[in-house]
Amino acid sequence: MDRPPSVDRLVRSIRSDVELPHPVLVDVARTVIAEERVGQAVDEAIRRRRRLLTPVVNATGVLLHTNMGRAPVAVEQTASFSNLELDLETGERGSRQQGIGGLLAIACGAEAAMVVNNCAAAVLLALAAVAGGRSAAVSRGELVEIGGGFRIPDVMAQSGARLVEVGTTNRTRLDDFRRAESDNDDLAALVHVHRSNFRIIGFTESVSISELASLTTPLIADIGSGLLDASCPWLDGPPPAWLIGEPAARQSLEAGASLVIFSGDKLFGGAQAGIIAGRADMVAQCARHPLARALRPGSLVLGSLQTTTLAYLDRRGDDIPFWRMAATPVDALRDRATEIRRRVGSAVSVVDTLAVPGGGTLPGVSIASAGLRVDGDHRAALRSDERPIVARVVEHSTYLDLRTVDPDDDSFVARRLARLIGNDRP
Ligand SMILES: *Cc1c(COP(=O)(O)O)cnc(C)c1O
Repeated sequence: MDRPPSVDRLVRSIRSDVELPHPVLVDVARTVIAEERVGQAVDEAIRRRRRLLTPVVNATGVLLHTNMGRAPVAVEQTASFSNLELDLETGERGSRQQGIGGLLAIACGAEAAMVVNNCAAAVLLALAAVAGGRSAAVSRGELVEIGGGFRIPDVMAQSGARLVEVGTTNRTRLDDFRRAESDNDDLAALVHVHRSNFRIIGFTESVSISELASLTTPLIADIGSGLLDASCPWLDGPPPAWLIGEPAARQSLEAGASLVIFSGDKLFGGAQAGIIAGRADMVAQCARHPLARALRPGSLVLGSLQTTTLAYLDRRGDDIPFWRMAATPVDALRDRATEIRRRVGSAVSVVDTLAVPGGGTLPGVSIASAGLRVDGDHRAALRSDERPIVARVVEHSTYLDLRTVDPDDDSFVARRLARLIGNDRP
């Protein structure tokens, strides 16, 4: 036996406390022995357990929280084969992009569409396919970093497109792009990048998609946020006021963009994906590029995105959890908070809050919301449960915003709060 007996003994002693496969517990035991902290074996095992993916209750009021997987999505699938790349008409090999691409094209008014793993991958693929080995023009005001290290200049370099910088950080005019066109024989694309997570104010000037589209070079617009249509036909009421000014796929295409690129898990409210929609010849160019194979999603993602897209086309915004949460009237949230307070007691109070879209979209925009307040910072305790609740703290009070909580979780939240404040009636 080459394993020191103490590892076995330690594994046996923590096995009843934490449910993890034997080799993981062995690794935990070896780690704490090597680091001379055997007394922390159970804690270490619990820490490992808590690193695994698990559902959480998002009570932060941040609708698209990158740390919590952005949009909430349901995935229901029994073990089964699918027609992922089988053409059921001919029995021959088909394309995994055809079904979902067709739906997305109709949903945003494009000739064609396709899906890759995320928006960063979509930008990379579109630039490589359309402008690889040639040049692409971008305003200096849009050479930005969006989210964890996604930098437009770096992505362009990876795509093999040569970056032609246009204008200045605060002011870029159509003439700057015209000059880029006449100065660069190999200019293959104009690139427009939405300033998703920041604003430039003051002495500024920028070129709109419709102005850029008046030039002859094809325009690739990275709108990031994934709003499908500015008029939100999938909602019962008018578009929410907090969406004003956010670029939408349909309107960007109508304004003349050759391709629009957006995330599947931001305002689209679906699974993590990147969507490329627009001119059929350019989408085909993307689909043919060798990178498309490396960036293609699997059937789980495509199936989930198909469910979301069908809901849009049927105008069932309520069936898209993100939109159901985003569009809930604040009175309904207040009623839910009042009911939770009734069950928990006066240690919690009903408060008006401000939710935000999040996910690096709509900076500075808030959405009227409601929730509960408890004295003190209880974040760690709320996270420590089997079903973690993620809350916010402002000035020594813990806030639970109900806009991002599924109403089906209200009872759980009430029970958890009752336990937290020691008012747990059996
Ligand atoms: C969020 C965003 C991206 C990156 O999207 P991912 O889906 O996270 O890869 C790219 N461009 C813009 C404009 C964005 O807002």
